Amino acid sequence: MSNRTFTMIKPDATAKGNTGAILQMINAAGFRIVAMKTTHLSAAKAGEFYAVHAERPFYGELVEFMSRGPITAAILEKDNAVEDFRKLIGATNPANAEEGTIRKLYAASIGENAVHGSDSDENARIEGDFFFSKLEQF
Ligand code: GDP
Repeated sequence: MSNRTFTMIKPDATAKGNTGAILQMINAAGFRIVAMKTTHLSAAKAGEFYAVHAERPFYGELVEFMSRGPITAAILEKDNAVEDFRKLIGATNPANAEEGTIRKLYAASIGENAVHGSDSDENARIEGDFFFSKLEQF
């Protein structure tokens, strides 16, 4: 079990000014921010990040959305990080997300759902390495 996960605050949440509130929830839930940056993904980079979804019908929409505006990417640390962070963000579709979760509070739809959270330890490492060099992960 790894103690790290990876997150992005997506363009919808950034544009609505919810970055601070979401980071506060992340801290209050006991996650330490190991690395963090705000950046704007090109369509090519967004497509690369979500390459695993390339065959899904929503891939084009997802790439357009994720490259629409700035995001904040971060590596987070806590015991049982991947599973606990998925609980904190809630279901992919905010309509199905539990009360008090980040997506219930801040997501508008299944596509524009405010935050990303890695779904496995292996993907957390791959996704963290996508944004941060080894020197930035201490
Ligand atoms: P996650 O692990 O909860 O983020 O969900 P998935 O791995 O299934 O999907 C990745 C991302 O693709 C989601 O967070 C959404 O932003 C987007 N997505 C998933 N399903 C749909 C959909 O049906 N329509 C659109 N437009 N986007 C979707």
